[in-house]
Order: sequence, then C-alpha cells, then structure tokens
Amino acid sequence: MSASDTSPECDPATGHPRPPRREFKARGSFVIRCEGCNLPKLNCLCPYQVKAESYAQVWLITHSLEHYKPTNTGRLIGDVLAQTQVFTWYRTAPDAQLTALLADPRYAPFLIFPDDQPDYADRVVGMDAVHSVKQDSRIPVFIILDGTWRQARRMFRKSAYLDSLPVLPLRTERETRYRLRKPASKAHLCTAEVAIELLRQGGDENAAAVLDDYFDVFNDSYAASRFYKKIAEPTEAMTRLLARQEVLED
Ligand SMILES: [Zn+2]
Repeated sequence: MSASDTSPECDPATGHPRPPRREFKARGSFVIRCEGCNLPKLNCLCPYQVKAESYAQVWLITHSLEHYKPTNTGRLIGDVLAQTQVFTWYRTAPDAQLTALLADPRYAPFLIFPDDQPDYADRVVGMDAVHSVKQDSRIPVFIILDGTWRQARRMFRKSAYLDSLPVLPLRTERETRYRLRKPASKAHLCTAEVAIELLRQGGDENAAAVLDDYFDVFNDSYAASRFYKKIAEPTEAMTRLLARQEVLED
C-alpha cells in the first residue's frame, strides 16, 4: 500500500487532531461520504472512473442485504462497463426485466457458480462455450450471484427461473486481494474479482485490466480511509487509470 506515513495525532487531509480511539469503532456512521462513489471523501474514487468496452456483459443478481453495503464490489463493475445490469434477487418471482433479457436470443447467459455438487453436473460448461457463442454473434453474459457465499448458494438453489441456464464455474489461480472483509479463504474472490477473471478468460483483456485497476483503487482507498489516512502519492493503478482518462479526453 502506498498510503503516506502520517503522524498519529493529525489527520493528513485537514491537519486536525485525529478522533479519539473510541470513535474508531463506530466508524462509518461518522464518515462523510462522497455522493458520487459513496466512499469516504478523504479518498474519493470518482477521479479514477474510466469506462471500458467489452464484448461480454455482466449481469448481477444481488441479494437485498448486499445492495447498500458500501464495501460491496459488485457496483464497481457497472462503473467501468456501462452495459452492466443489476437486479435484486427475489426467490419467488424474478425481476420482469431480467425475465425478458433471459428470453432475448441476442444474449447467451451463463450462470457463474462452482461445479462442486453432482446434481447439476449436466449443466456445467467451460469457457470454450463462451468463445463459441461469440462465433455465433451472440453476446455472452456472465450472471453473477452477488452476496455472501451462503446467500449465493441459496439464490442458486431457490431460483427456479435460473434452472435452465448453463453453469459456468470460474477456474482461476487468482487469490483475493480484497481487504475490506475477511475472506474464509484466499481462493474466495469478491464479486468484482470474479468479473475481472471472467472477462479476462473470455477475451475482454482490456476491460478486465481497467476493472482490475479500478478495484485496486477502491480497495486501497477504502482501506486507507478506515484509518483516516489520505493516500498522498498515487498508486500504480491510480496512475494507469488517470493516463487512460487523458487518452479518452484527447
Ligand atoms: Zn467520489
């Protein structure tokens, strides 16, 4: 992390004395957040928002408890890829727009989920299936269940309207870099990281690289703000995103 070293008594952004230790526990409720990115204003994410084009799309089905968590990384995907769709999960009835999109022949949706249970083995496909729908001029769609592991498993099991979709397990050696929640295992990627790896393997390397940098900036900015630290020197990911913005503006 390249957050600056600061004296322990002073907030580097304002020079004001740091809040006492006991306020730290109640962080969040005291923090002033940016209206644009919902991050603490100290390290706002907005200057680093860069759009990227991708052939594949990402649609999120987000658990209702996940929607308003500021540490949710699913929302980062839509900041970078304009075509991203976000739906709230309902057990009984799917979102009407989602139903319509699932029936639209232009799209080839893949439900992203591990293949660790035998009862849906006949639905499991590999990344080659994504490449072959592109040959047929259809748009591959990665449908990611956005929630905790328990929530995602419940969404997978309790959504009859997803039962006909092919299941695409993400196979990757990547270890999580997400620092805002403690993962049960390094192999458990957060939602944005899952999207990054899917895009990369599906042939959208540029979009994957932008989203990866944007995720890093989010991760570093949020983590630093938890300690009231302002990131003084831009990180490598920040520098790359700012350079991309200049190219887009030219
Ligand atoms: Zn912002």
